[in-house]
Amino acid sequence: MAPKTAIVIGGGIAGCSTAYALAQRGLQVTLLERHANLASEASGNPLAMLYPRLSGDNVTSEFALAGYLHSLALFKSLDLSPSDFNTCGMLQLGFNARELARIQKVAAQNHPDHILNYVTQFEASALAGIDIAHDALYFPNAAWVKPQLLCRRLTQHDNISIITLSNVYNILKINNLFEIYVAGNIIVKAEVVVIANANDAQYLCQNLPLNTQTVRGQVSLLNATDTSSNLQTIVCSDGYFSPAVLQQNARHCHCLGATFSATPASSTKQDNLHIDDKDHLANLDKINNISPKLHQALQGNITGGRVSQRCATPDYWPLAGQLLDAAALTANPPRPSAATNSLPWIDGLYMNVAHGSKGFTSAPLCAELLACLICNETLPISGELAGRLNPNRFLLKEMGLKRLAKMG
Ligand SMILES: Cc1cc2nc3c(=O)[nH]c(=O)nc-3n(C[C@H](O)[C@H](O)[C@H](O)COP(=O)(O)OP(=O)(O)OC[C@H]3O[C@@H](n4cnc5c(N)ncnc54)[C@H](O)[C@@H]3O)c2cc1C
Repeated sequence: MAPKTAIVIGGGIAGCSTAYALAQRGLQVTLLERHANLASEASGNPLAMLYPRLSGDNVTSEFALAGYLHSLALFKSLDLSPSDFNTCGMLQLGFNARELARIQKVAAQNHPDHILNYVTQFEASALAGIDIAHDALYFPNAAWVKPQLLCRRLTQHDNISIITLSNVYNILKINNLFEIYVAGNIIVKAEVVVIANANDAQYLCQNLPLNTQTVRGQVSLLNATDTSSNLQTIVCSDGYFSPAVLQQNARHCHCLGATFSATPASSTKQDNLHIDDKDHLANLDKINNISPKLHQALQGNITGGRVSQRCATPDYWPLAGQLLDAAALTANPPRPSAATNSLPWIDGLYMNVAHGSKGFTSAPLCAELLACLICNETLPISGELAGRLNPNRFLLKEMGLKRLAKMG
């Protein structure tokens, strides 16, 4: 029988889309977030871009495309206004020999026109509304979205209660019910728990090595010029550049991103959240690959930015699925040929974390996967993809159980 109650820990895109997928199936969901507002950490940038990065005909591209199409359909179903979610399209530029070869390889796979098509530099310029220096892949439905609004909309649901300012320290399971503790007090009980708190997931399941890594990123906001205001699509080179969008500062700004820097283990989280002028310049340099003229025109137009921490795994796949009892597994290692249903699964405990730099395309599909697992429905992705996402894979690999590590 499907469970009736669930707790989701973490109010970013992973937690909010998981809460939504479960609430849509009739579960009563309590969403716990440590900040006063949803989407206050990695999911809180002024804009998030929604597009797939395809590399060829492989399992990584299959997941990227499935996630993109799922997120697009989901966000469209929420009736967000075009000033909050805009399917303006995206041009992915062949800005060097390697990228040109990649986009040509993807174009040769004959994807339907509503997903992507190959365009020349001149066609790209006409679509973008500004001069573009390279041929490109055009994704006509790619979009930008305002993440905080999206997270609020996903959780405005009769079956979802949100408790903010709740930093979860401990999860206990007593008599088939999970009990969640905040500041030493039980605040809620439920049959199912989904851990969706990104870089802090490891604290909640200490025996299971998640191997997550924190990756600092900075986006820059740029005041639009007369020329840059003509930009109609997102343009991606080694970063992304959005059309000018009305921001909270009441200005029309472009969102330009993003930097990547693995966080040294010695630095505290706070040290890493300061805006760095060098990172603004690194972002600005990415515009040179789009259009040298635009790069010149936008010098000195940076008006602000935002820093946050991604949560990534060494193999770049998220961690999404049911959790194993790591202590029981290591105390009694199974044979490599063991059946997955003979492993010590924790009934009701799931995870949706480690979405790296593409959480808006990957987290909602992982949320749907979890909801299908929890409610015993047909999975929305192949068994091979579900296996790649196996949140227990690093422990299983460490134990030499490679076959089991690849099973969902
Ligand atoms: C600079 C930058 C630019 C990016 N641009 C894009 C983009 O354009 N498109 C895209 O798809 N992705 C982008 N990403 C990646 C994307 O932002 C992330 O993949 C995504 O936000 C991850 O969502 P999440 O819910 O897993 O994590 P988070 O948004 O970090 O959410 C985790 C939540 O858990 C809460 N939490 C943590 N511990 C606890 C606890 N113990 N109790 C209660 N709550 C807790 C946190 O407060 C937080 O709200 C970007 C990332 C960065 C850094």
